[in-house]
Amino acid sequence: MEYVAGVDIGNSSTEVALFGRSEDGEGEFVSSALYRTTGLKGTKKNVPGVVNALSRAAETAGIEVSGIDRVSLNEAAPVIGDVAMETITETVITESTMIGHDPSTPGGVGLGSGIGVEITADPERFATEEPIVFLVPETVDFAAAAATIDDWAEAGFEIVGAIVQRDDAVLIDNRTDVEIPIVDEVAGLEKVPRSQPTAVEVAPESTGKTIDELSNPYGIATVFDLSPEETQKIIPVARALVGNKSAVVIETPQGDVEERTIPAGELEILDERGNTTGVPVDDGADRIMEAVTDSWPVADVRGESGSNIGGMLNRARASMAEVTGQAVEAIEIRDVMAVDTLVPQQVEGSVAEEHSTESAVALAAMVKTQQLPMDQIAAGLEAELDTEVLIQGVEANMAVLGSLTTPGTDHPLAILDLGGGSTDAAYMDESGAIDSIHLSGAGDMVTMIIDSELGVDDRDLAEAIKKHPAAKIEDLYRVREEDGTVSFLDEPVEPELFGRTVLLEDDGGMQAVPIDASVEGIRRTRRRAKRKVFVANAERALNLITPTRSIRRLPFVVMVGRSALDFEIPELVSEAMAEYGIVCGRANVRSALGPRNAVATGLVLSHVGSGSYLDFEIPADLSTALERTTA
Ligand code: ADP
Ligand code: MG
Repeated sequence: MEYVAGVDIGNSSTEVALFGRSEDGEGEFVSSALYRTTGLKGTKKNVPGVVNALSRAAETAGIEVSGIDRVSLNEAAPVIGDVAMETITETVITESTMIGHDPSTPGGVGLGSGIGVEITADPERFATEEPIVFLVPETVDFAAAAATIDDWAEAGFEIVGAIVQRDDAVLIDNRTDVEIPIVDEVAGLEKVPRSQPTAVEVAPESTGKTIDELSNPYGIATVFDLSPEETQKIIPVARALVGNKSAVVIETPQGDVEERTIPAGELEILDERGNTTGVPVDDGADRIMEAVTDSWPVADVRGESGSNIGGMLNRARASMAEVTGQAVEAIEIRDVMAVDTLVPQQVEGSVAEEHSTESAVALAAMVKTQQLPMDQIAAGLEAELDTEVLIQGVEANMAVLGSLTTPGTDHPLAILDLGGGSTDAAYMDESGAIDSIHLSGAGDMVTMIIDSELGVDDRDLAEAIKKHPAAKIEDLYRVREEDGTVSFLDEPVEPELFGRTVLLEDDGGMQAVPIDASVEGIRRTRRRAKRKVFVANAERALNLITPTRSIRRLPFVVMVGRSALDFEIPELVSEAMAEYGIVCGRANVRSALGPRNAVATGLVLSHVGSGSYLDFEIPADLSTALERTTA
């Protein structure tokens, strides 16, 4: 037997297809394997990952890795992707007021508004006509606070709410006879202005509801009797409170909560005709993408140094220069993708570590060089394995060949390779000629958006949130899934999962999500991120790759790449494509592997011939154009 391995080194994963061929030329695929790409794609550091993936494939096939006679590496697309995020608004509190504070355990329920009064004040100094919101410093314990509330109420005062420094809201609520909303854990209580009109709202606890008066600009206007001009000014306050279970708003003499735009630098997009278009990043994603489309094909993109995005573009350029040994100036950024997002941020000047939702722009970049130093990888592999290593075939061409092993496909066809760093597309026409394109923005960008929008601050957890549906553990035996269906469990869940939001893993396992977000909130953020990246990029890629630049002419579209393994990305993309009348589905490489292994499979086929795997002969120029041995 002669064994031939196809190896696809991607940004994220290294995939292997292993083929065994007997003396008489007959043969079959004997195994496939996957290992994470070690090091930056296209560098010598990839060698250990390739060896590992090859060893796994050999083991499954029941042979020694030294029994592999030929390794066929693809000429990896000389592109790498990177992502960054730039916050473009900030909410600033110039005087002391509170917005967006959302303690985990407020007390009582409802909306109350009155004048802020220190709970230790002398009642003689106040008139009973004015409703009162008490401010309870940490020096006053919950029992004393509850007693004082009752005393004042008995004396004829209308007590309508309380703001408490300690985590005592529930304790006070349990002891007083007056039913009022109570917000606690206000660390900087001394900074809260006294004698000002103050409103406190707490949503009903059991129902999972959020506040609905103070999160609405007209609700705040009603409470404080604001003019239309004043109502304009409090919009950032209302926006910061959306989704909260409790809130405090204090009216102070000046408009003291302000939403500012942070200058985030400018992107300079250069087209191939030598024109430059400048777009301020804080103009938002739509303007950036418009400029990219108008400048297509993009020759290079530059970002202002000092900004996150400028820093990311320079970093990507520098690492690619290092990898290829080329001058930094020779490295080009051939595409950027921008998405508008909202990120929770701590408010500048806050009293109780309040958060507000700020606008941000997520950006992914595609860095391109002439060629990756694949020779070095091949040489490293030959030294390590003592087998012949060929560099053969362009990545996109191999992906098309591999995809065509999907039952029911034929050419002309387009493929979408939904990866981690890039979304790639290729089109094979009637004659078998292939054209391809690489766009920035793929799985890593989705993960980054989920990470920052949900305030996860942990890439691994964000990656898990991306890949798995969320659910709520209602009690030890009941799980409420995203779509509302309730399943009953045979075995009780771990007690620490009780009442928690979890991720449902493929093997039936559950992972707790240690963030304060509802199942609905997670689902909404996750699906929007996927749509904004993958649906947008599918449209962009297919429009650019089809000969007439008209996506509607496409007969078949097949999705490959590991992001096509996702439980909802293929369906989101297919749904969007259906509106153009395109049949778009997930590949099933070699009738068995789903969207996996397309490039590795294509590499083997281009080497051993189409055999029984394809309905047509592989055009010679597809596989041999780049064939060269390293020996
Ligand atoms: P590349 O070819 O660039 O190495 P891949 O095709 O391996 O990229 O795709 C990597 C991307 O696929 C990552 O963003 C990763 O999060 C995503 N991914 C991997 N497995 C799954 C899965 N089971 N469900 C959803 N996404 C996945
Ligand atoms: Mg890939």
